[in-house]
Amino acid sequence: MIHIRRRDLITSALAAAVFGVGVVSTWVSSRAGQPVKKPVPPPKPKLIALDPGHGGADPGALGISGTQEKAVVIAVAHELQKQLLTGGKYRVMLTRAADTLVPLRERVARAEAAKADLFLSIHADSHPDTGVRGASVYTLSEEASDREAEALAARENREVPVAGMKLGSQPESVAKTLVAMAQRGTVNDSRRLAETVVRTFSTGGIRLLPHTHRQAGFAVLTSPDIPAALVELGYLSNPQDEKLLTVKQHQMALARALRASVEAYFAPGTATRKA
Ligand SMILES: [Zn+2]
Repeated sequence: MIHIRRRDLITSALAAAVFGVGVVSTWVSSRAGQPVKKPVPPPKPKLIALDPGHGGADPGALGISGTQEKAVVIAVAHELQKQLLTGGKYRVMLTRAADTLVPLRERVARAEAAKADLFLSIHADSHPDTGVRGASVYTLSEEASDREAEALAARENREVPVAGMKLGSQPESVAKTLVAMAQRGTVNDSRRLAETVVRTFSTGGIRLLPHTHRQAGFAVLTSPDIPAALVELGYLSNPQDEKLLTVKQHQMALARALRASVEAYFAPGTATRKA
């Protein structure tokens, strides 16, 4: 019994000595101005909201061979989702993941509720002149940059009633949203996003309309907090564009270009937004 107690004493003395050394070393390190560094958690992957247009009872634009915009844009959105998730740098949410019709205001609300860092609305257009082809990129403005952009916004803003569902409350007025966006830096960030898409499309060999970054009052681009752009991938009314938009290889190329746009947008040193 006595033997054990002596061992306990020795153990306590050793512990005190060890503890003492610990105290001294802490004091020395704090005197040297080198507090122990806490490990910094890795940054949370950015959340990208992908918004494939139309869906369900709303097919969107129709191609001359019958291709439906809603089918093309969800195929590209799913491909882009796959590419963005590879590498673990991004998280992705889709405002619609299936062939369902989601009201425009609901799309914005879903991205806001998830606290998305970026919003990309994906569409394909049609034009009475079947010779018109190429992609184009749009951001929100109160006054449209041109009549074509104004007409396009009117087409994209048209809501098809959803059976059994009341249309979401109307979006805030564009003017009011733009004031809030300007205060939060979202206007500049959205412009930068659109210009990044234009750049990566042209370097990625994706045909673009001339003067392609245009502006108009798109209801789906009205979150004051989330930098947003709407991309028209091409014209379903043009035979070459319609064919390309249904080809898997081209859909993958479009997704690669959009992924590169997201990469370039978040590249260090390019932020315009205040932290
Ligand atoms: Zn559309």
